[in-house]
Amino acid sequence: MHAYLDNAATTPVAPEVVKAMTDVHSTVYGNPSSTHLPGRKAKALVETSRRTIAKLLGVAPRTICFTSGGTEADNHAIQAAVGCLGVKRIITSEAEHSAVIKSTQMARDQHHVELNYVRHHSDGRVDLDHLAQLLAQKKSKTLVSLMHANNEVGVMTDLARVGTLCKEYGALVHSDTVQTMGHYPMDLESMDVDFLACSAHKLHGPKGTGFLYVHPSLNIDGLIVGGGQERLMRGGTENVAGIVGLATAFEIAFENMEVHESHIRSIKARMVQGLKERIPGVAFNGDSDGDDRLYTVLNVQFPEHPNGGMAVFLLDLEGVACSGGSACSSGATLGSHVLRALQFHNPDKASVRFSFSRYTTNADIDLALDALIKVFAALPVEA
Ligand code: PLP
Repeated sequence: MHAYLDNAATTPVAPEVVKAMTDVHSTVYGNPSSTHLPGRKAKALVETSRRTIAKLLGVAPRTICFTSGGTEADNHAIQAAVGCLGVKRIITSEAEHSAVIKSTQMARDQHHVELNYVRHHSDGRVDLDHLAQLLAQKKSKTLVSLMHANNEVGVMTDLARVGTLCKEYGALVHSDTVQTMGHYPMDLESMDVDFLACSAHKLHGPKGTGFLYVHPSLNIDGLIVGGGQERLMRGGTENVAGIVGLATAFEIAFENMEVHESHIRSIKARMVQGLKERIPGVAFNGDSDGDDRLYTVLNVQFPEHPNGGMAVFLLDLEGVACSGGSACSSGATLGSHVLRALQFHNPDKASVRFSFSRYTTNADIDLALDALIKVFAALPVEA
């Protein structure tokens, strides 16, 4: 018996995706850049996939640039904003994924871009008044990079509002939508965003595939240069099977979004209820529910037992896969940068992230709750 509750890290690949990719691997071997028939067949698959994804997002196909995943898409948006679009200042948050944190730091260190961090409210939400103040302070060309949903605690940002605000000040907007693509409807035509990052493996697609959405009014160079693939925005032979897998995952996610969401919300509610009933003093980093919370993620704070890393290890032994809100380095508990940035970090309490998918069952939740009781009873209370 085991329960996989780490879907924010990655999701199981859907059987339909495996089948679509296997078909490509076994029948379409051409290089999409070749002009002969096998090449044209591969090219057709790439372009059909691009059209499928673009249609579901309400945008033109040429706005979708296939990448190796979310990290590359984040890096590309940030480096291109600086290198090609004259950005001299970036406003972001210390709670972003490391792909954004490190890429923006690199822009500061290598290109002398000014880096400003927006504040958060006590419930974890981005303080949009502070964002407006920061935008008003300077006239230099600015990129705002704020994730749609935080991967550790699930707190969400109202992208439409951020977009409108940024346009008032002439700022560009990038959002890491890795945790929300395929889980929320997105009508990009009606939103003022310039770049979005997507990763296939967070929506039951394959690892190593994703895309960067680039607003049609922007012209950017490639982060990876080589052949003229992806209209010169991404050199390298396309991952044809991965791209087909991503498009297949996208179609399934968008066509069944409401059903999946309602299933996952019921799973999460069962977990919240079970935790409250069975573990006295349990608390949540960020609200456990609510419309401004990512419904796939639940970040739990356990009382008295400060060792989250040990809890994750022991839960693994009990067959429960989840992830810790803290990381250990050189023997010192540094804690998660997100929990620290949002001031949720409590050295006396263990934080554990559980994350769910359409494949998570009630039995998985019950197994996890039983394991938690066992593990927390066994954990020594640290002084
Ligand atoms: N951004 C967020 C919010 C993520 O959760 C992840 C995945 O861990 C990434 C970016 C990186 O995506 P990828 O694994 O496709 O590089």
